[in-house]
Amino acid sequence: MVMTTYIHCNKFFKKRSRQVEAIMIIGHVYSKVAAKALEGAQSKANTHMVLSFDRRSTRFLVEERQNLREVRPLGRFTVRFDKFWFDCWKFQKLHLPCSHVLAACKHAHHDFAMSISLVYTLEQVSHVYKG
Ligand SMILES: [Zn+2]
Repeated sequence: MVMTTYIHCNKFFKKRSRQVEAIMIIGHVYSKVAAKALEGAQSKANTHMVLSFDRRSTRFLVEERQNLREVRPLGRFTVRFDKFWFDCWKFQKLHLPCSHVLAACKHAHHDFAMSISLVYTLEQVSHVYKG
């Protein structure tokens, strides 16, 4: 029973490792879950507006103008890159940039990739399957 389970797990990990490497070869960097979350956040970020930006503290005030998918009211959110603190708390929960962070990055011409946890990269996923 234990040997059968080991063999099945080993087969699964080898198969997943090959699949992840194939996805990396065609140029993908992030896992499917992360890529989908970033795509959704990018779509929402296009409806946000940066009201203020303090270049010294890299503090942004981002206002939502439209949010059709969530039930909470529209709001204003603070993004602080210097402390990696964002008051909508999505980043702190998921370690992925939310729409507010993406709007702030777009405004200041920052590369948002710096705020994506390495656990979402296919390279890290590949390491997990290789053991
Ligand atoms: Zn946010």
